Parts: sequence; structure tokens; C-alpha cells
Amino acid sequence: LSFASLGLDAVLTEQLNKLNYQQPTDIQGATIPLLLAGHDVLAGAQTGTGKTAAFTLPLLQRILEAKQASVSDVSDVSDVSEQDGINHISEITAPTVAKTNIQAKAQYSQQIKALILVPTRELAQQVHQSVTQYAQLSDIRAVMVYGGVSIQAQVNAIKAGTDIIIATPGRLLDHLRHQVLSLASIEHLVLDEADRMLDMGFKDEIVAILKRLPATRQTALFSATLDDAIFKFSQRLLQQPKVVET
Ligand code: AMP
Repeated sequence: LSFASLGLDAVLTEQLNKLNYQQPTDIQGATIPLLLAGHDVLAGAQTGTGKTAAFTLPLLQRILEAKQASVSDVSDVSDVSEQDGINHISEITAPTVAKTNIQAKAQYSQQIKALILVPTRELAQQVHQSVTQYAQLSDIRAVMVYGGVSIQAQVNAIKAGTDIIIATPGRLLDHLRHQVLSLASIEHLVLDEADRMLDMGFKDEIVAILKRLPATRQTALFSATLDDAIFKFSQRLLQQPKVVET
């Protein structure tokens, strides 16, 4: 089994080659095709199984696809204007088209497309490092948000524009209360180590965050254990999930 055969783009598989990932782990082989197909997923996976790449790689691919679609939409519009019968002088049209594309891209990248919720600052840092590593050959950006440090640097990072937010629930709520960011454009939600988040008492915070998210989105919930508490909780945020246990 190869990463390409799971449906991943060369921008990602080339980077995995560089990292010397020979083949997908069990959890990656099981969840990547489901997430690429747009399903909600409930996955039981311990640390060390490759779970971070299992939810990150499809996320990156879906964001890349959305970015490509938005850029080609803009190109389509400029194609039409070049065929409108007016004799455009290339020196004038070329820079105009280029500028339009750049503006569309800049505008797009200010929209946050994915939210990854994690229980601790340490896990936020680990996940951010993985996301950044896997996204190296793309222009996808990720910002971390966690408590115990000054809020201003995070505000600046968010305002500079990001595709992905990796957050602990409490600090994310602080940012939402201060209206630093909106979650209205989120298309993908991941809960990593959901069992630990429940153990740490983040349930109410997560529910409050869910209220700020669009109902139409893809959600993946990863947990070391799949017990009754997790199943019950998952019903509040997953729609017809595929269940994966490794
Ligand atoms: P995780 O379970 O996400 O904490 O990942 C555990 C470790 O496995 C990390 O150091 C990853 O870089 C590494 N890893 C993840 N997927 C693969 C793979 N397919 N091949 C080799 N190493 C991997």
C-alpha cells in the first residue's frame, strides 16, 4: 500500500518521501480514504500509531483542492473578460489578471478552513510541528492557540491569515469572546485525544465552540479509547460516522 494509492496528491506524497515514510500505518490506511471521501470519522488510535498524519494529510489535501478551485474560478472570470470583444493590450491586461489572482488568493487564505482541538499545549505544539512538516511543499498555513502565554502574539498570527487553527478549547473561547477570529468559514473539525479532553473537563468548552461552527462540516474524532462516554459525546458532533479501530 502506498500513500498515492490512498488518493493523496503529489504535493503531499513528495514530502512524505522526503520524511522517509515508506508506507501508511494501519490507522492511516483506514482513515485517509474515508476522510478524503468526505465522511465523518470516529477513530480509536493510540499515540505512536501515526494518528496525526491520519487526520492531517486528508485535511491538507481538502484545503489544497479548495484553494485550487478558488484560484481557477478567478482565472475563468478573467478568461471571459479577455473574450469580450474589446481589444485588450496585453501590457495592460496581464498585470491586471495577475493582481486579481493574488488578491483572490490573499482573501481566500484569510479564511480559516480547519480547526484542530487538542487537550494540551504540548500536543498543540506537536500537532503544529507535524502539520507544518507535512504542508512544507504547499502554501498552507497553521497557527497555534493555547493558554498560559500572552494572547497578543496569537492575535497577530491569526490576523496575518491562516488556513488551520490548532487550539486548546479554553484559549480558543477567549479569542472567540474577544472576536479575534470567526469560525464561520470552518469546513473541517478534528478532535485529537478526545478522551483526554473529556477527562480534563473540556466538555462544556467544546460544546460552546461547536455552537460557533457551521453545521455543514466534516468532523473527525480521534481517541485512545472508544468507550460509552466517547460514543455518547461523539453523537453530538459526528454525522453518520465511519468507525475505525486499529
Ligand atoms: P503519532 O502517532 O501521530 O504521534 O506519530 C508517531 C510517529 O510516527 C511520529 O514521529 C511520525 O513522524 C511517525 N510516522 C507517522 N506516520 C508514519 C509513516 N507512515 N511512516 C513512518 N513514520 C511515520
